[in-house]
Amino acid sequence: MTSLAIGLLLTAAAWCTTPEEFSTSAGTLQLTPIQHASLMIQAGGKVLYIDPAQGSYDGLPQADYILITDIHGDHMAPALVAKLKKADTVILAPKAVAAQVPGCTVISNGESHTLGAFKIEAIPMYNLKPGGFHEKGRGNGYVLTYGGKRFYFSGDTEGIPEMRALKNIDVAFICMNLPYTMTPEAAAEAVKAFHPAIVYPYHYTKEENAQAFAKDMQGSGIEVRLRNWYPK
Ligand code: ZN
Repeated sequence: MTSLAIGLLLTAAAWCTTPEEFSTSAGTLQLTPIQHASLMIQAGGKVLYIDPAQGSYDGLPQADYILITDIHGDHMAPALVAKLKKADTVILAPKAVAAQVPGCTVISNGESHTLGAFKIEAIPMYNLKPGGFHEKGRGNGYVLTYGGKRFYFSGDTEGIPEMRALKNIDVAFICMNLPYTMTPEAAAEAVKAFHPAIVYPYHYTKEENAQAFAKDMQGSGIEVRLRNWYPK
């Protein structure tokens, strides 16, 4: 291989986000951060997107499953969902999203649904002060279980009691940004309460939020993984 070819390969690798790999009893699960709160999961030959709304989807596969948390534009993009879906794609979403995205199966706070080898539980997500950006009951965070591993995606929320009460979470994705969700400090405090093994800050908008969160998590015994959720 010429050095030019190697150089081009390295450039290509730097442009796409590397998948995170998790070993489970059902084989490897790959998770690719796309942008902000948008990510892709690949496991058991299936492709599942969470909040496909931001970033580039060029070259990414069609969806078998899609989970949507809420109606805001950084989580719900009906045109993009239409592009990613196939005839048999299952889309799980709360009622408010289903009103705007055709073909959703409604899942409400507290309900569970099985998608092949994935088990999905809908967790509340909301601002603690009534009248905030996220009304209790409208949106869903999700716990996804695959091969015995439990992944939590907070959606847009504060450190609500339902988050603090989560049990046996292996990997958590936690939002932070004001005025919409919470401060990095509040996020760290809530994460320490349910104590996942690994946490990824996402939906943080500004790099300094993720850095502040990581600093607050020091000494917690929880592994913090900082990734680039805002590719240039
Ligand atoms: Zn958001």
